[in-house]
Amino acid sequence: MIGRVYLVGAGPGDPELLTVKAVRILQQADLVLHDDLVPSSILALASPGAEIVNVGKRCGKKSVSQENINARMIAGARQGLMVVRLKGGDPSIFGRSGEEIEALRQAGADFEIVPGVTAASAAAAAAGISLTHRNLASSVVFLTGHRASDRAASECDRAGCIVLRSARDLAGKTVVVYMPGPHYESVRTRLQAAGVSGETPCVLVSGASRGAQRTHKTTVQGLATVPPLAPPAILIVGDVTRFARDHVAFPFEFSSFGRSDIMRRDRDHGSSQQPPTPYRS
Ligand code: SAH
Repeated sequence: MIGRVYLVGAGPGDPELLTVKAVRILQQADLVLHDDLVPSSILALASPGAEIVNVGKRCGKKSVSQENINARMIAGARQGLMVVRLKGGDPSIFGRSGEEIEALRQAGADFEIVPGVTAASAAAAAAGISLTHRNLASSVVFLTGHRASDRAASECDRAGCIVLRSARDLAGKTVVVYMPGPHYESVRTRLQAAGVSGETPCVLVSGASRGAQRTHKTTVQGLATVPPLAPPAILIVGDVTRFARDHVAFPFEFSSFGRSDIMRRDRDHGSSQQPPTPYRS
């Protein structure tokens, strides 16, 4: 096989958070298979001749199957194409890269992984906190509310992607819940069942690094009454969130990446071109 597949992390949304390598590979790609969460401002960096296909999967929505995605990647590599499988955040975190790597290996396809900034890091930056802290948390746990099997996926659809995998003894750790779904009450129940106190502070971050970025501070107990934030949203739980920013609008100039048409297209993906409200502590 002469082609190559790149599993590339697109980061949390702001094109300035792409790696230099991700930008270079995007500019050279023949075929880009991207997730739903990748904004048009990033897709606009691909070469004009590249074929760009949305293979995004969203809980409860009809989508391209994993087998189909694997087949397209492998077929592209067989044709000698430079294929980019572009994923939100980092490809190795809740991105089904494991299955794709397995399929590529079995097909004998050449592949490379290009890491990206994961949502947990972008959310911590948005909230103005550190995920670890010498006195408060010496480890970080990433959890997901989303389940893997088909049967669980339909349960997930009904329940709104809220079922946490079992996690014991989370005390003293920072817990980051990816895909918390809109029903935070269930997340609260699961966290408390796993030993997290109701008094523990936490922060929900919506659209980290994107135009519509918002943070909402509460406690694990308080999650029961918080209305859902706009997706994509993530939850950080633990003492490190005690000094998290609350209700901040996007705190700095949204990156134009030098192209006004990119800004226009990004509006369709929920980004705001309003002058940003600077954060004041
Ligand atoms: N591979 C991705 C995660 C994919 S799972 C990564 O490393 O970030 C998708 C989940 O990530 C979303 O449901 C949400 O919980 C979180 N997420 C992704 N982008 C986000 C963003 N900009 N702000 C807040 N959460 C985000």
